[in-house]
Amino acid sequence: MKKTPAFPVEAWEWVWAPHDAHTYELVLEQIAENDIVLEFGAGDLRLSRQIAERAKWIYALEINRPLLERSSNALPANMQIIVGDAREAPFPENITVAVLLMRHCTHFSLYFDKLRAVSCQRLITNARWGMNVETINLIASRCSYQTLEIGWYACRCGNCGFKSGPPQVLTEQIADQVWELDSCPVCNNKSQQIKFNRKEVFTSSQGLPW
Ligand SMILES: [Zn+2]
Repeated sequence: MKKTPAFPVEAWEWVWAPHDAHTYELVLEQIAENDIVLEFGAGDLRLSRQIAERAKWIYALEINRPLLERSSNALPANMQIIVGDAREAPFPENITVAVLLMRHCTHFSLYFDKLRAVSCQRLITNARWGMNVETINLIASRCSYQTLEIGWYACRCGNCGFKSGPPQVLTEQIADQVWELDSCPVCNNKSQQIKFNRKEVFTSSQGLPW
């Protein structure tokens, strides 16, 4: 019997897979004409090209250079490609919104913190709830798990859940609301710090060092 090769969970993050047209539509309707967008894992640029038709500017970030080379003919004038690893590539400082379609994201809080560090305002993603696309307000204030009495929560680390509490305080309004948290029992408000030994060179579509 053949043995299935080991495939670490983290490796899923680097495998690009297209999403369906409906998912892309949910993303596109959140993009405004003056948005400057960063798309993570842009793959063959199929969504990036649609974003370019709506937004002011799109940075398409993708780690898989051969995939990009096959797809990057005749780029729109408002698109710039960044070849690199999202964990270590510096994010452009003028982005207003980021798009992260990745159901197996193991570095959510790292990306979240890096986006906030460059004052990015929104993150459109399906990484927290798996299937559902949501738009996260990155600049909104967040509470801690301890201060939440009862209800649904979604944390900056990517973890989501329901905190149980005294049933008498659960109203219909509370049951419908999702609280944005800065910390939860999974992350304890820790940052994902990743150290790299290798030095990558980031190149733009013009071939200039990024
Ligand atoms: Zn958390």
